[in-house]
Amino acid sequence: MTYELAHDPQFADLMTATSHLTGKTINRFTHIHQSASDLVKKVKMLRMIGRKTGSCFQRCVGLDAMNAVYTTTFEMDQKLGTDYFQKARKFIGMVQEKDLMIGGAMTDAKGDRGLRPSQQNDPDMFVHVVERREDGIVVRGAKAHQTGSANSHMLLVMPTLNMTADDADYAVSFAVPSDEKGIVHILGRQTNDSRKFEGGVDRGNLGYGIVGGEALVVFDDVFIPNERVFMCGEFDFSGMLVERFASYHRQNYGGCKAGVGDVIVGASAALAQAHGVQDASHVRDKLTEMMHLTETLYCGSIACSSEGMPTRSGAYLVDPLLANVTKQNVTRLIYEIGRLSQDLAGGIVATLPSQKDFKDERVGKYLEKYMKGREGVSAEERARLIRLLENISGGTALIESMHGAGSPQAQRIMILRQGNLPAKAEYAKVLAGIKEDEVLKKIRS
Ligand code: SF4
Ligand code: FE
Repeated sequence: MTYELAHDPQFADLMTATSHLTGKTINRFTHIHQSASDLVKKVKMLRMIGRKTGSCFQRCVGLDAMNAVYTTTFEMDQKLGTDYFQKARKFIGMVQEKDLMIGGAMTDAKGDRGLRPSQQNDPDMFVHVVERREDGIVVRGAKAHQTGSANSHMLLVMPTLNMTADDADYAVSFAVPSDEKGIVHILGRQTNDSRKFEGGVDRGNLGYGIVGGEALVVFDDVFIPNERVFMCGEFDFSGMLVERFASYHRQNYGGCKAGVGDVIVGASAALAQAHGVQDASHVRDKLTEMMHLTETLYCGSIACSSEGMPTRSGAYLVDPLLANVTKQNVTRLIYEIGRLSQDLAGGIVATLPSQKDFKDERVGKYLEKYMKGREGVSAEERARLIRLLENISGGTALIESMHGAGSPQAQRIMILRQGNLPAKAEYAKVLAGIKEDEVLKKIRS
């Protein structure tokens, strides 16, 4: 879908952009954001594709990784005199030219979560450099929960934490073909995923997965040539890379998840119609609440994008505080949207018989008779909506909303850091008469 829509003139404004590197028209999923309007268009694009897939469409991770690497390497080179930015530019230019899908890889295996990378008993719990050669580096470790990795052309790897001097070997960023020698993708299971192999109605969402086909990606001594290395030991900048990637990725969730929310609301409304209860006041109220929650998510993504500011490289970054608030809302509101949809749909979401029974010679006729909705709604039509709703409102889809783009606690750390608590205490103290307003004091004096 991310390729097809980019070639459809109807979607050109959202799906394509003008490369600042070449001036050519490119797929927006390979673009380096040049304005706040670019950031807003990204969110609108994600919502639109969310509606068309009812799923994760995977390509935002690489887009966010490229923007984070681009803006961070610029500042690294300025401070340290390194040459990473030119290499990043060249890599991104190639990605734009070929319209490649890039898997952004951040989350490490982590081992003992209470220990830093260099303190682990097993040194491979975080991806690290094991050998430095004249022509490149050799890396080892594993990245977990990697969205779309197996079907990406290349992976763009970043550190997962702010590193210290002791962890310098773990401050490493690089790009590598996803089928490079030594890389192994071990795919995760998703709720009811084996139904996909059965085909037909029980697949729920007919064309797409439940979330992004996440995998554990093992780097078993993989060689990375120098021109694809974008950080190697500059631990001081690992925090910036992590925070920027996280902010760009948290920006997305009120886009893609609002798109999926639209489908959940739509499936719930269509089922209410099928059940003949569409005019009941509590049904209309629940649908209204679901729309309110969906638009609330979208508001956050639009806000952090329109408040975006240029970084030193000239590329735009979202407002980090608002982006983190957006993702934090997703960890809660998607559950509430799903809960309301299941309330409306009824217990049938959990008890619908198999499509094989619908086709069965002996019992199929009973299902046709007893599973139909109001006049004019066949049992199969109702079953399709129920299976779709089951697919997108529960199981793996919910966990993805909780932990995708970072777990809730990661956002809370950023909210506390960015929220400027001391300033808020000042506002209160001034109004309580404990302190004078500094600005007024100056004017009056
Ligand atoms: Fe993109 Fe959303 Fe999937 Fe993340 S969860 S890759 S933002 S579609
Ligand atoms: Fe995700």
